[in-house]
Amino acid sequence: MVSTRRTTKAPSSSSRPSSPSPPPASPRGRKRTPSASTILRSRTKKNGEEEDIPISTKETKNHQKHGYEFGGPIGAICITILLPLTCYFLVFACNETTGCDLIESIIGLAKEKKKNSFSLLMIPEKMTPVFSLESCVLFLGWIGWCVMLHALLPASIVKEGVDITSGESGGEKARFRLRYKLNGFRVFMTTAVACAVGTYFGQIQLRSLHAKFLSLLTAGCAFAFALTTFLYVASFRVNKNDKSKKKKKTRKNDGIDNGPVVLANGGNTGNVAYDWFIGRELNPRFSNSLFDAKVFCELTPGLIGWLLLNFGFMHEQYARLGFITKPMVLVNAFQLMYVVDALWNEPAILTTMDVTTDGFGFMLVFGDLVWVPFTYSLQCRYILENNVDISLAMTAFIVIVQATGYYVFRQSNGQKNTFRTNPNDPSVRHLKSLKTKRGTNLLISGWWGVARHVNYFGDWLMAWAWCLPCGFDHIAPYFYVAYFGVLLVHRDLRDGEQCELKYGNDWKRYCEIVRFRIIPYVY
Ligand code: NDP
Repeated sequence: MVSTRRTTKAPSSSSRPSSPSPPPASPRGRKRTPSASTILRSRTKKNGEEEDIPISTKETKNHQKHGYEFGGPIGAICITILLPLTCYFLVFACNETTGCDLIESIIGLAKEKKKNSFSLLMIPEKMTPVFSLESCVLFLGWIGWCVMLHALLPASIVKEGVDITSGESGGEKARFRLRYKLNGFRVFMTTAVACAVGTYFGQIQLRSLHAKFLSLLTAGCAFAFALTTFLYVASFRVNKNDKSKKKKKTRKNDGIDNGPVVLANGGNTGNVAYDWFIGRELNPRFSNSLFDAKVFCELTPGLIGWLLLNFGFMHEQYARLGFITKPMVLVNAFQLMYVVDALWNEPAILTTMDVTTDGFGFMLVFGDLVWVPFTYSLQCRYILENNVDISLAMTAFIVIVQATGYYVFRQSNGQKNTFRTNPNDPSVRHLKSLKTKRGTNLLISGWWGVARHVNYFGDWLMAWAWCLPCGFDHIAPYFYVAYFGVLLVHRDLRDGEQCELKYGNDWKRYCEIVRFRIIPYVY
């Protein structure tokens, strides 16, 4: 049986990041019990047993310090409204009924302003209705299918995540590690085989995803709002593990102990709108199983769903034209490669900011389940609806851009991963690194010596390779490259702030040595 490893030995404060979960939402004057969300620290009693004690009020206050991100509560509300609107806007502004001139028209670039801008914003005839029960059932069925496969298929690997801190006090922390069942690649392969067989026997019509796109988007939005609200409310639950912890002390833990409910640092400000958006709970788990809602959503339904939409558009193109165009092949192949890479390297997700730091709120729920599939598939939809084709020379150029981007992305991410997991590996042994008080060293040569987030640069180059096949008639299909550029710059700033908290002056020294943020010699 798999069990959670609970680390109770207190590390020195200097060798650990200061990323404790903040105290429970007590601003409303609720009685504080040593619940899951209460900050506890482990103490070893004289008889060798361990007990958790709540941290004093004075200590706890130190953890209430938080900085709002994303413009605080107002920003969170605006983003919550803007994200779904943007998804709809991209469909209404760029479709087969209206064409794709709206954005150029708005910024005054349209060559001929035959139509007024408003007439360029419409629900596409081929994608009605905007809401249908059938699509809601389809969307729920898709999530259910992924959950079922995740539960039934064996794990490719069961891996421990990073240390999670449920409390901290003067250098003492209650720490544990969760274990994750990772089988996203198997879920993908099983789904691919099921789709291939279903399509062959005429039971699955992937091309129908084009007509259902809008109603599926509506279903996805509704699901994201509902799931986020559920997660927010559920984050206030008192964890049974904590209540029964004392009784269990002497019992050998041979089951799966998912530890206490841990709140995300920064997701527990007491402001409902902000916490709902940013995510209150760090790793929502609702049973003593290895099912982790956040890691599951990060990799499985959204990413594979994105590919299904892409393949649906390719299938529709084939049905319409009798062949598949070069741009359609390119974008499908590149994005397939990206998703397969993410699923193949699934354990790498466990050390990303999304998993280690951010709560599971609307930002991630919507991003994973709606934003990724419905906006990242824009290029394939555009190519289908606009019959784009490109020259062989352009095709070759795009392949080079993709290959370069992928090389930088994979090599840099791989180098850091190897360095962190096995610094004596021959591929990284020769690299220079900066010793830090925190204990984890920072690479200052190799990929991570040329820019602090050179991996983002590789990712952004790939973004160009996904947009260039759409040609240059319209700006809309370049939405991804623009949005992703902003996301990566913002993400770099957020990660920089987190690293400064984690590493203190060592991070400042690192920044002096590695001066560029993302693009060497440019930014
Ligand atoms: P990164 O892989 O960039 O990791 C950042 C962390 O690495 C830091 O917090 C720090 O953590 C560690 N680190 C920083 N500098 C060094 C160094 N010099 N040596 C060793 N370790 C260092 O995190 P992300 O999660 O932001 O990105 C992962 C990948 O996912 C990227 O390639 C990104 O492009 C991609 N991505 C894609 C998105 C998409 O929508 N397509 C969205 C977001 C990300 P610590 O020291 O604590 O280990």
